[in-house]
Amino acid sequence: GRASPPLAALSQVLRLERSRRTAVVFPLQKLERYLAPGADTAPFRLFQPGLAALQRAEALFRSDRGHPIDYVSSAVRTDHAPPPALPEVCFIGRSNVGKSSLIRALFSLAPEVEVRVSKTPGHTKKMNFFKVGKYFTLVDMPGYGYRAPQDFAEMVEAYLQERHNLKRTFLLVDGVVGLQKTDHIAVDMLEEFGIPYVMVLTKIDRASRGLLLKNVLEIQEFVKESTQGCFPQLFLVSSVEFSGIHLLRCFVAHVTGNLPTVEAS
Ligand code: GDP
Repeated sequence: GRASPPLAALSQVLRLERSRRTAVVFPLQKLERYLAPGADTAPFRLFQPGLAALQRAEALFRSDRGHPIDYVSSAVRTDHAPPPALPEVCFIGRSNVGKSSLIRALFSLAPEVEVRVSKTPGHTKKMNFFKVGKYFTLVDMPGYGYRAPQDFAEMVEAYLQERHNLKRTFLLVDGVVGLQKTDHIAVDMLEEFGIPYVMVLTKIDRASRGLLLKNVLEIQEFVKESTQGCFPQLFLVSSVEFSGIHLLRCFVAHVTGNLPTVEAS
C-alpha cells in the first residue's frame, strides 16, 4: 500500500510543539484569538473533543484485518445504493472544491481504499459508497458545477430526501473564495429538505490568516442568520497540511453514533 502522509496519525501530531499541534488539530480555534474583543466565540468551540475521543475516531478510520474499510459500490440512483443498514454521512461540493483530496486524507490510514475520481466531461457522475467496518458508510457525492445536468441534480436531491440512514451531510466550501452562487444552491436545497448539514472550508493552507478569518466570519454570520439545518461551527481543513482532518474524523464518528462513551466537548 501507499505510505500515509506525515501527519495522518495523531501520534505524529502529538510530537509537534504545542502551537503547531493546535493549528493542525483545531485550525478554527487558532483563528479565535484574532477576533475583535467582545466577539461571539461560541461558534468556534461547540465541538471540542479531548484526546480520547480523537483517538477513538482515529481507530475507526484505521483499517486492519478485523476492521476493513472498503469502497463498496457506485450508484447513479438511490435505489441502486447499498442497503441502508449503517449510519451514513455524505460529502457534497462544487467540482474542484477539494472533495476527493479530503476523502483521501480521511482514509489515509486505510491506504488500500481507492478514492476514484470521474472528472472526464461527459462521464456519468456517480455516488461512491465506502464502508467503514461495521460502523458507518461514507458517500462521495458527485461534484456539482454550474452546468450540473438535470439528471445529476435529481440524483442528488433524491438521495438526500430518501436516504433514511443519512445522519449528516458535509457541504464543502472553498476556504479561499468562500460561499459561491452554486454553494447557495446547495444550501437552499439542504434547507428545503430540512436535513442536518455542516460546512467544511477546504484548502485553508492557501488562504492568508486575514482572508480565512474574513471568510469564516462571513459564513458564520450567514449560517446564524439564514440557515436552520447547518451546524454553527465551521470545520476548516487542509488536505495538504492535514489540518482539521483529525477533528473531522472525530465529528464523523460522533454524528454516526460511534463515540458513545467519550464526551464531545
Ligand atoms: P474535487 O473535484 O472536489 O474532488 O477536488 P480535488 O480533491 O480533486 O482537488 C481539486 C484541486 O485542488 C487539486 O488540484 C488539488 O490538488 C487541490 N487541493 C485539494 N485540496 C487541497 C488543499 O487542502 N490544499 C491545497 N493547497 N490544494 C488542494
